[in-house]
Amino acid sequence: MTSKRVYIETYGCQMNAADAQLMAGILLREGFTRAESADEAEVVIVNTCAVRDHAEQRVLGRVGELKRSKRAGDVLGVVGCMAQRLGERLLERAPHVDFVAGPDAYRQLPQLVSRAREGERAADTALLSTEHYEDIVPARESAASAWITVQRGCDYRCTFCIVPMTRGPERSRRLSDVVREARSLAERGVSEVTLLGQTVNSYHDGEHDFADLLRAVGAVPGLRRVRFTSPHPNDFSERVVAAMAQVEAVCEHVHLPAQSGSSAVLRRMLRRYTREGYLGVVERLRAAIPGLAVTTDLIVGFPGESDADFTATLALVGEVGFDDAFTFRFSPRAGTAATRLADAVPDEVAAERLERLIAEVRRVARARNAGLVGTTHEILVEQRARRGAALQGRTRQHRVAMVDGPAEWIGSYRTVRLTGTTGATFSAVPVEPVREEVEP
Ligand code: SF4
Repeated sequence: MTSKRVYIETYGCQMNAADAQLMAGILLREGFTRAESADEAEVVIVNTCAVRDHAEQRVLGRVGELKRSKRAGDVLGVVGCMAQRLGERLLERAPHVDFVAGPDAYRQLPQLVSRAREGERAADTALLSTEHYEDIVPARESAASAWITVQRGCDYRCTFCIVPMTRGPERSRRLSDVVREARSLAERGVSEVTLLGQTVNSYHDGEHDFADLLRAVGAVPGLRRVRFTSPHPNDFSERVVAAMAQVEAVCEHVHLPAQSGSSAVLRRMLRRYTREGYLGVVERLRAAIPGLAVTTDLIVGFPGESDADFTATLALVGEVGFDDAFTFRFSPRAGTAATRLADAVPDEVAAERLERLIAEVRRVARARNAGLVGTTHEILVEQRARRGAALQGRTRQHRVAMVDGPAEWIGSYRTVRLTGTTGATFSAVPVEPVREEVEP
């Protein structure tokens, strides 16, 4: 019998990580088993990201490496956003890649593997506006936390972003299907779910909006924490904000991509809000949800970004008081509108701006975190810390806290007092359960 050990290596965002579980679900039900590493697998699938050129170069390097360890009869597939973007071209460029599949073609994986074993190389990059993978049970690993994809694709057209091209139009799963999945996860011991979508708060299944979804998932017995990512600032209706504030399970953290603090740059990015509009959303959210942590994504070096534009982004960090930020240098993606914009920012200028931005994000986060030392929080213990003997947990505001305790605590909730901070993460000690303090 042909051996069917499969290894999926994932790059990029949480949507991709959730898709890896989906792919595993599709393959395991066809009799495949999981391998712990690429070396042990007969089928290796590289699940790719296309958001930045750097991510694609890394994947190409990795695919080159896998060529060297590929044995006769092994199958190598490249899937995900970069696979969608390059399609057949990837097969031409990398003759040792057997198949290419985009995000809407994962049902075809078992067939693509079989065809590859018969010597046929293929690319499946059809975008299907109706694909939800509704009948597939993702193969999840963590016992306490799970992602639930509630929406696929994106209808915005931010000029820097390749996602609408690689993941197709926005579509939402039916609320009843999401709730059914949440219930079955809770019955298996999951207590924290993260709802995933490209602009998750624009969720609409034709009948229900994101506020309805938060209320319905938040009411599932056994679910103690509900998170979501990533929202678009324009889709925080009063109904959504009210649901966030009123549903106890919804955590006090929002990852709210700003991208820039300059209205002129935001206009060229086609983000459809201004600096003032963004600040207004933060203000409404904070007014409704005490102790809300706000994290963000910021891009520097977008075409036409002047010194004054960059200064506005830098100032936004302190003005909002972000708890953390993912910071990026603009990376032009073929096929996006930003490649046609004039006034490219020289590399060295963008690099220097990125450095200054990172320093400012760290400074602001460190000051906020220092103010939290001494406060008490509930953490979900997630895993052993990467270094040392401590356990790593997360507060409802998504802050990381290290605490000493037995491995049996993993997957459980503990009340801890934050005793110190490195600037980014906290040390903590367990305390008797007391009411969580509201942050300053
Ligand atoms: S909202 Fe903009 S940045 Fe986000 S996925 Fe859609 S196009 Fe890309």
